[in-house]
Amino acid sequence: MGDCIFCKIANGDFGTEFLYEDEDVVAFKDINPKAPVHFLVIPKKHYKDLTELDDVNLLGKLLCAVRKVCKKEGVSGYRTVINTGADAGQEVFHIHIHILGGKKLGDIA
Ligand code: 5GP
Ligand code: ZN
Repeated sequence: MGDCIFCKIANGDFGTEFLYEDEDVVAFKDINPKAPVHFLVIPKKHYKDLTELDDVNLLGKLLCAVRKVCKKEGVSGYRTVINTGADAGQEVFHIHIHILGGKKLGDIA
């Protein structure tokens, strides 16, 4: 996707530091963190949201990447969030898993 910011990040266009990378997935820090720990895990391939991503293997790899990046970064308790669609607050339409932690988190929504 030519003008997708997360495709560009995954492609290394901005020199973003990857906390985790494998052949299908990258993880990096959110530019506007909502908690002391706020990482994003994305597939390298473009899918706009969860409604488009029906690749079971890739879905599993995304969650495995969450486990790996949290272990590597020493994050013990964390919340994972996937916003799907504008009503849920999705702003970047390249599927991503938020990892939030580093403090006692409040209730969801
Ligand atoms: P959404 O609201 O779509 O679920 O979350 C998008 C997230 O992407 C937001 O938390 C926002 O701060 C983050 N974000 C947007 N643009 C960039 C960027 O260029 N770099 C990084 N690292 N994060 C971004
Ligand atoms: Zn994209």
